[in-house]
Amino acid sequence: MLRDFCGLYNAGLQQRIEAYRRRRISLGYAHQANELKACRAADPDGLGRWSFTALQQVLRRLSQAYAAFFKRGRGFPRFRATARYHAATFRFGDGLTIKKDRRLGIVGVPGAIKAVWHRDIPEDAKLATAIVTRQQGKWYAVFSVEAAFAETCGTGTVGIDLGLNSLIATSDGATISAPRYARRAQSARRRRQRALARCRIGSKRRLRAKARLTAASAKIARQRRDHLHKLARALVSRYQGIAFEDLNLAGLKRGMLARSIHDAAWALLVQFTTYKAASASAEVKLVDPRGTSQTCPACGTIKAKTLRERLHRCTCGCTLDRDVSAAQIVHQRAFGSGRDIGLQDISQRVAA
Ligand SMILES: [Zn+2]
Repeated sequence: MLRDFCGLYNAGLQQRIEAYRRRRISLGYAHQANELKACRAADPDGLGRWSFTALQQVLRRLSQAYAAFFKRGRGFPRFRATARYHAATFRFGDGLTIKKDRRLGIVGVPGAIKAVWHRDIPEDAKLATAIVTRQQGKWYAVFSVEAAFAETCGTGTVGIDLGLNSLIATSDGATISAPRYARRAQSARRRRQRALARCRIGSKRRLRAKARLTAASAKIARQRRDHLHKLARALVSRYQGIAFEDLNLAGLKRGMLARSIHDAAWALLVQFTTYKAASASAEVKLVDPRGTSQTCPACGTIKAKTLRERLHRCTCGCTLDRDVSAAQIVHQRAFGSGRDIGLQDISQRVAA
């Protein structure tokens, strides 16, 4: 199907180019779509098999590529290689349907297609389009849904610290560690990396090893995103105000080696939480991260810690997990707590 769609895309592009070259005519979407019926009739074993509206979408996509070229200064539309043509757009209920047993029906594809559902479609939802894509040998269907999402957030506020011992720590005293499968997946990936390194350059074995490595890396990325989505969801449904350290502050030097490993995950978590909070009318605040791990949340005393110290132990009697104590400082900076920590002093005296 994608091969035929790609062929149509290229033919459409060819037609537009020729029409302009020979007769100085600019063909538009409407003109090309008008010819579609005849094209399908002439090619019953090819284009004729597929959904009419899905083929219209292919021409529309070409039209969009032209519009981007003229209006937004993008490059001139290019001919596409079949191997790199990965997506088809359907109008829901027309080219693509959901069967009673939750399998997918696609016009031209025999039988019903088994699907793993990421989540249920809300009952009152209006389904508009569905995009079927091919990614690393797996097929996905993405639905755009029009519905009144009554997302609700929780109550209370929380400060979150990017943990050193754990993935994150909350000011409520909870620590959430990185999922265990992440470490397993990492070691599998390293093994595949070594296997790749052993293969002779240009050999078939090397190609296969490379494909396996790519698949393993993609899996890790998927798992990480999934986990962070769920974590962000959990935060929003539990709290109304959520504070993170703002790690994008210009000129900030992050001394901690361990942090850089988590940075990518951290940025994603902040991003996911921010947009989920926005749709549930919760609030996300970003605070100055300097000195969060060096300040006592109970008395405000500043005391430098080495990376090895896992506990925050203050002379005032406050003993906490170091990440939890940092999360409490983040919470105080974002939402206040009656005590003034004196951020100005911290940033002058302590390098984070
Ligand atoms: Zn103290």
